[in-house]
Amino acid sequence: MKLVIASRNSKKVEEISRILGKRLGVEVCSLVEVDESLPEIEEDTDTFQGNAVKKAVIVAAKTGLLCLADDSGLEVFALGGKPGVYSARFAGEHKSDKDNNRKLLELMLNKSDRRARFVCYIALADRDGLVGLVSGQVKGRIAFRPKGKNGFGYDPVFVPYGYDKTFAQLSSGEKDKISHRRRALVKARRMIKDYLVSLDSLPL
Ligand code: IMP
Repeated sequence: MKLVIASRNSKKVEEISRILGKRLGVEVCSLVEVDESLPEIEEDTDTFQGNAVKKAVIVAAKTGLLCLADDSGLEVFALGGKPGVYSARFAGEHKSDKDNNRKLLELMLNKSDRRARFVCYIALADRDGLVGLVSGQVKGRIAFRPKGKNGFGYDPVFVPYGYDKTFAQLSSGEKDKISHRRRALVKARRMIKDYLVSLDSLPL
């Protein structure tokens, strides 16, 4: 059975396939391989959950395939959860990761409470609608200045608990072991397995 990832980002699709592994019994493919003509689905709800569910349900309905969709971002305690669902465009549309990090560090000037977390929600849907939703998180703190060159997004300003380096100073392998996305994907793997078993056990 095919499992389409609701993304055209080849790096994201590769990472998801790697973590889901080969023995799941599904053929993982990206939106590019399945339907070139499907327009970009806007992440316009005000929750991560809403965006993940919206993407999974629309793509599954349009392609007729089992579909996995994610939405993720950074939540900072002292900012009431911002940038949250607006993580990608915190400094404005078409601004860079650097601009987002600069804005975040400015807002965090004089803040002694630096607690933050990355969250990731993953929705699974088939042609009949939503199958399930899982999440993962990694807790940490916001650094006082950006450090490191690896990764993307807010990696240079996020220090996970138990470490004294930012995500951008860790290797991708080290980050992958503890990331919010990995934690959500491990649960998504279980959800897909259960879904496949439930298909097998349906009465004829
Ligand atoms: P998306 O869910 O992949 O669209 O990610 C939304 C935004 O959240 C990204 O553009 C980043 O700004 C931020 N983000 C999500 N995951 C990470 C991460 O692992 N590191 C750094 N930033 C992240």
